[in-house]
Amino acid sequence: MAGRREQPRPQAAPIACDFESCGEAAIARVPGVAGMANVCKQHYSFLAQREAELFCDAQGLSSAADKLAFCRVKMKEFGRGGDFDSWVKTVSQRTVAVLVQSGNVRLLERLRRAGVIDAYNRMVKSA
Ligand SMILES: [Zn+2]
Repeated sequence: MAGRREQPRPQAAPIACDFESCGEAAIARVPGVAGMANVCKQHYSFLAQREAELFCDAQGLSSAADKLAFCRVKMKEFGRGGDFDSWVKTVSQRTVAVLVQSGNVRLLERLRRAGVIDAYNRMVKSA
């Protein structure tokens, strides 16, 4: 019969954040410029935010409205072609602009066939 542990397991020594002159305890290990790096909560958020900004810049998304339109396009792609009709109701001229920018010809053609946009990628319906 195994005896109960009398003492709680000793806590592992905290691992310091690898950011220069930070000194906080690390909560995550992430890929860095020079291999894996340990980062604290604050620096983890900092890196995630910076990654998001770089991604948005690469996609040419500057305003919040552009980012929202981009997300709506992406959500449609995650949906595996399911609910096209209800997605169409969320489509705006900005959504169309994002589709044009990302070269999503298939989805543009589908919107055109559904009578949502014209041959010049302009919204047809007035909601
Ligand atoms: Zn830190």
